[in-house]
Amino acid sequence: MNNIYFPPYFVVKNGIHGLGVFITADLKKGKIVFKMKGKMVNTPSRTSVQIGMNKHIEDNIAGHINHSCTPNVAVHRRMHYFICLRDIKEGEEIMFDYNQNEDMIAAPFICECCQKKIMGRKRPVKTQPKIRVAEHA
Ligand SMILES: [Zn+2]
Repeated sequence: MNNIYFPPYFVVKNGIHGLGVFITADLKKGKIVFKMKGKMVNTPSRTSVQIGMNKHIEDNIAGHINHSCTPNVAVHRRMHYFICLRDIKEGEEIMFDYNQNEDMIAAPFICECCQKKIMGRKRPVKTQPKIRVAEHA
């Protein structure tokens, strides 16, 4: 697909692991990256972002943000913002920790960086596969 630009801060394009959301400007820690807008749903989907108890939002941009265990953005649930957790450089992909934000992942998967099962934070630990120490870049 063609790159989709969302001025001033980001572009959705093909990354290493399929589509991702990339920053087109340097952003400082604490900065709002964008505010999610979209349909509210009661149950999580592959693309929804949780913003409360049984509250999920389907946002065109957020639906493309990939998971990382060392995230550089996080969800501000009440305000529906994505916020920078650290300074982010132009060209970096933004990623958030699905396990931190989501109670339940609609389509659980194994994280490529650490082999942890990403399924949401309320699942019992004993169901996770053996975890090796992650080496995050
Ligand atoms: Zn990981």
